[in-house]
Amino acid sequence: TLDTQRSTQEYQAIDASHHIHAFIDQKALNAEKPRVITKGYGAYVEDSDGNRYLDGMSGLWCTNIGYGRKDLVAAAAKQMEDLSYYNMFFHTTHPAVIELSNRLFDFLPKRYSHVVYTNSGSEANELLIRTVRRYWDVVGKPSKKILIGRWNGYHGSTVGSASLGGFKFMHEMGDLPIANIAHIGEPYWYAHGGAATPEAFGLTSAQELEATILALGAENVGAFVAEPFQGAGGMIFPPASYWPEIQRICRKYNVLLCADEVIGGFGRTGEWFSHQHFGFEPDTLTIAKGLTSGYVPMGGLVLSRHMADTLVENGGVFAHGLTYSGHPVAAAVALANINALDQEGIVERVKNDTGPYLQKLLHETFSMHPLIGEIQGQGFVAAIQFAQNKATRTLFENETEVTWRCRTLGFEEGVIVRSTAGRIIMAPTLVMTRDQIDELVEKTHRAVNRTA
Ligand code: PLP
Repeated sequence: TLDTQRSTQEYQAIDASHHIHAFIDQKALNAEKPRVITKGYGAYVEDSDGNRYLDGMSGLWCTNIGYGRKDLVAAAAKQMEDLSYYNMFFHTTHPAVIELSNRLFDFLPKRYSHVVYTNSGSEANELLIRTVRRYWDVVGKPSKKILIGRWNGYHGSTVGSASLGGFKFMHEMGDLPIANIAHIGEPYWYAHGGAATPEAFGLTSAQELEATILALGAENVGAFVAEPFQGAGGMIFPPASYWPEIQRICRKYNVLLCADEVIGGFGRTGEWFSHQHFGFEPDTLTIAKGLTSGYVPMGGLVLSRHMADTLVENGGVFAHGLTYSGHPVAAAVALANINALDQEGIVERVKNDTGPYLQKLLHETFSMHPLIGEIQGQGFVAAIQFAQNKATRTLFENETEVTWRCRTLGFEEGVIVRSTAGRIIMAPTLVMTRDQIDELVEKTHRAVNRTA
């Protein structure tokens, strides 16, 4: 049985003996010792020493609906009783995945018609690479094999998705990127915009895509893949000029526009999908995280009607499959999750009430703060940018250490926020109340003050 009564030290000792953690120097972690998180309820989590933290990051930006929802637990339990698993050589289907698919397209713009399910965002982006290349094969343009991502973009940890992503330290592990992947710069005005206005910089950044397509040959470029706002890379919201220009360029050169909505989906910005906030029209969407609010793993690749029709009518065998694609338990939980997000007006509240409240409070609290040069965000996603000199937009040389210290102080204050290179970022559970938003901003403010 699962022993939930061990001491923290015991847990940590066993963990250090047998468990390799993701994205961390394991030796350093063994010295620092991981917190043992034992409980979650609403917007809070608790550790094995009884400390309570307000979770400003929805776990890993996935617990959109908050922790401990009995209706999601019941949906999982009932589905496990009725049909815990079934997939017979991919020739069968089941009500949970059918009902989920039906409901999902109630929230997606009408240009999308089909979804292929995976267990994670990484797998969905992995599949994206193959699907884009397959699509161009089927329409008779097999040379369009190159996918262009962005430096500092994040699309997952598997071989293809990490190649598509632009974290060089990830490329160094395992000899990435794979062939036929290219990258352009990120639209990070605060760090890279120089003397240009944000709008001018947004256009220049987008036009790097055009220059790259021309350099590679449009006949060789199949897709541009990006997060509508760059999540793990620092919650970077591009200037308003960026996405319309990207859309124009993709249409001009017949390049598919693929949005990674793994973080941005399911209400994060107050829209169901974050590309809707920016007002552009991707050909594919990668989804995961908020689809199930992280209660169980599930992801997917959503295809436009045009792409799906092309692949179904003329593509023959879709040579891809996972044992757990459309897993009944995950599908039942996803369905309960998106029904609750909708029926309880949670996404709508983020759009019209709590989201604007959070953004306003962040601006009021930090815009005059001597260490904070920029506040960006929409709905329930936000970043505060550290600056050594606000007047000249000079960044801290050791910005990674500065923000890491701030996030560690956040833990001491009882709030979980995340640090990226120069920014503290937050993506709270969408059910946070105004009082909890006050607590989030107040505790973060204390941590920022102590960072100085
Ligand atoms: N895409 C984006 C934008 C992400 O932020 C993540 C994870 O953080 C992924 C893809 C990968 O998803 P997963 O961790 O479920 O594989």
